[in-house]
Amino acid sequence: MLGPVILAASRSDRMRRLISAAPVTKQVVDRFIPGETVADIVPIIKDLTAKGLELTMDVVGEDITTPEQATAARDAYLELIDHLGRLELGERVEMSVKLSMFGQALPGGHELALANVRPVVEAAAAIGTTVTLDAEDHTTLDSMFAIHEELRKDFPQTGCVIQAYLFRTEADARRLAESGSRVRLVKGAYKEPAEVAYQQKHEIDKAYVRILRTLMEGEGYPMIGSHDPRLIAIAQELAHKAGRKLDEYEFQMLYGIRSDEHLRLAAEGHRMRVYTAYGTDWYGYFMRRLAEKPANLRFFLRSMVSK
Ligand code: FAD
Repeated sequence: MLGPVILAASRSDRMRRLISAAPVTKQVVDRFIPGETVADIVPIIKDLTAKGLELTMDVVGEDITTPEQATAARDAYLELIDHLGRLELGERVEMSVKLSMFGQALPGGHELALANVRPVVEAAAAIGTTVTLDAEDHTTLDSMFAIHEELRKDFPQTGCVIQAYLFRTEADARRLAESGSRVRLVKGAYKEPAEVAYQQKHEIDKAYVRILRTLMEGEGYPMIGSHDPRLIAIAQELAHKAGRKLDEYEFQMLYGIRSDEHLRLAAEGHRMRVYTAYGTDWYGYFMRRLAEKPANLRFFLRSMVSK
């Protein structure tokens, strides 16, 4: 029951100011967002890739309010890609981007987001890697899919995310399960109304399996974004039934969540990509992680009162 309340707070400026200013917040935030600058994050990239893990990097930020912030977001990704180029890790480290951070919600936002994200996709391609467009709330998705299609004309490896909780996603998955596409399937992390999304966990899980089957039986490259042990086992079974080899799909999990499982899957020979977020504008990302698991919230509140 707390999840929707926390998700509502994740969009509140007042809560943002309160929580961001609390001195103990930082310690809890570090578990999920292990750095604020490129200098902080490079050693983490080196460490995780040395352990056989792959990464997708998220410079945190979303719902910006000026075109200058969108340009700054683009430049933050370009700075990261510049450093990644020197590490020569190629597609072992890709980028995840939220189009709202590139100006999608501003006037003329669709064109602005496309203009800001294109140089990031070009720079990623130049160092042998790629970009995946994250899925945000359902009102943004038509624009996200149109930008995805546009980018794929020049950079066919550009990925996108689909969310099992949305009714529309089964049709999106059928459209996207084509040769050369890269699609991350997740349950969905936003507060969505009953008109557009399943509300019950068991309905979302069932939809996840149906969509995963479509992706596995299709021609594209499925990226299974989940920590759910049941879904991970089902994914392995579906991949096997579809005759996919270990390098014809991958698992993805978030930094700081089920880290032992990251290493276990990698040791079994799976491609395992860790979604690693860093930066200073961490509020929205952090609140979604609290909403996903009540124990995270209890830990956060306990650390506040014990100070
Ligand atoms: P759940 O049933 O929520 O969790 C299964 C188990 O995993 C839990 O029992 C618990 O042990 C563990 N777990 C899950 N979440 C947490 C947590 N926060 N803290 C501690 N333990 C936890 N959502 C979007 O809407 N758009 C995106 O673009 C997007 N990208 C993502 C990328 C990746 C790589 C991943 C893994 C998730 C992404 N998500 C995205 C979030 C996703 O939608 C879910 O909210 C999140 O993954 C939790 O769902 P789950 O599949 O892990 O299953």
